Amino acid sequence: GPADVECDVLVLGAGPGGYSAAFRAADLGLKVVIVERYATLGGVCLNVGCIPSKALLHVAAVMDEVSHLGDLGVSFGAPQVDIDKLRGHKEKVIGKLTGGLAAMAKMRKVTTVRGYGAFLDPYHVQVEETTGTGQDKTGTTKVVKFRNAIIAAGSQAVRLPFFPDDERIVESTGALALKSVPKKMLIVGGGIIGLEMGTVYSTLGARLDVVEMLDGLMQGADRDLVKVWQKMNAHRFDNILLKTKTVGAEATPDGIKVQFEGLDGTKSEGVYDLVLQAVGRTPNGKKIAADKAGVAVTDRGFIPVDVQMRTNVPNIFAIGDLVGQPMLAHKAVHEAHVAAEVIAGEIKGDAALAKAQFDARVIPSVAYTDPEVAWVGLTEDQAKAQGIKVKKGLFPWTASGRAIANGRDEGFTKLLFDDSPEAHGHGRILGGGIVGTHAGDMIGEIALAIEMGADAVDIGKTIHPHPTLGESIGMAAEVAHGSCTDLP
Ligand code: FAD
Repeated sequence: GPADVECDVLVLGAGPGGYSAAFRAADLGLKVVIVERYATLGGVCLNVGCIPSKALLHVAAVMDEVSHLGDLGVSFGAPQVDIDKLRGHKEKVIGKLTGGLAAMAKMRKVTTVRGYGAFLDPYHVQVEETTGTGQDKTGTTKVVKFRNAIIAAGSQAVRLPFFPDDERIVESTGALALKSVPKKMLIVGGGIIGLEMGTVYSTLGARLDVVEMLDGLMQGADRDLVKVWQKMNAHRFDNILLKTKTVGAEATPDGIKVQFEGLDGTKSEGVYDLVLQAVGRTPNGKKIAADKAGVAVTDRGFIPVDVQMRTNVPNIFAIGDLVGQPMLAHKAVHEAHVAAEVIAGEIKGDAALAKAQFDARVIPSVAYTDPEVAWVGLTEDQAKAQGIKVKKGLFPWTASGRAIANGRDEGFTKLLFDDSPEAHGHGRILGGGIVGTHAGDMIGEIALAIEMGADAVDIGKTIHPHPTLGESIGMAAEVAHGSCTDLP
């Protein structure tokens, strides 16, 4: 039948990918419709991901910092936690941001259609209206006709099949709901999301166990960075089970009984008040009837795209978590801008815009733990594995005036430069890592240096303000080119 709504660009999903694509396309003069099943814009990141987790981590970090002040001569009483009020604070943070997005959508005349979208063909999506948290469908449908579509339907947490249905077993969304603080908590999966949530719950009073199949926590980061975090956080954990699989679980009145099996065959068991499954996320590519539009989806649910974010169907693009790793908000946003620009360029005959491509050299990663762990580009482990010769500049924060003044000098800043014979001793920066407070806020400078092709002299001769933690990046570069004479 005829379409209820028509547009130049339909954006399926309103996460960081979806809203960024919609806003850029609208700013470039296109008529845009966003289809979103949740009541608010912002997707996983704003509603149940990046933002609520950081709201809680901020509070945890302040609590931990305050507890350290005793050593510096200032003591407070034991913290009194009002969990309802804390949850309320987190909700307010989300509300401010999602409300801001709604206002920006309105200002740009972007239409939002609330509901669950599924393709009918390469030019139509059917939207079934949803209510509440987005799980309930009312049966009312609308058809949106589009010239181009951008699929930004994101991802969801992987659930282990042998876990029983029990409210004491949650994934990140359930953990962020922060209903109560358990005495004993198990984190299944030692990645960033699990360790961030563990930090929050442990500061609020929970004892932690973590189980990880691989041989170390926070995979992807160099072990020297992780070691600093692990030493500072050892007090939170009763058990860190590495090279261990979770193989079974049962709900009992005393708690969730979980069975483990080491890769060496060792069997063990634990009983927990709360179990957080944080074993990764799976793309939503198979849930949108992509086949009806002819869009190819891999077995795992990813949608393959080219450097312009175009799928195998020329008028349909895809971005964000469902096109591949790393599943990070800042990657989704940049891919979104490319897709919107290519579409606007093609519709308006603007050849320059139509040539937009995703060509980032590097995408930074940050664990917002305490201390933070951040890294970008080539890691030392990768350099070793790939036989790439690098020159390392490492600046320990025990030599940073600011870190010492902060009472937090456990961190360090590390830069890696190309040391291949072709670089003739003036190699460009290839990667870097920082562990320490505010590491995440500083890693962007290293990403910029990599994008600009800076060498150690460029970075070392850039005047950084003193005394700051960011100065450690300049100092690490000076260490690498051997001109580090005076430490602050
Ligand atoms: P999503 O944010 O997943 O949005 C997809 C949207 O599409 C959702 O709103 C969904 O409701 C909607 N949707 C899906 N299917 C349909 C459909 N058929 N019809 C209508 N609507 C649909 N990343 C970072 O960079 N930094 C962090 O600190 C960080 N912290 C995180 C913490 C947690 C606990 C979690 C879970 C994730 C975190 N991430 C973080 C990852 C980040 O949230 C994702 O990378 C990001 O949200 C991906 O954006 P997206 O636009 O691809 O999809």
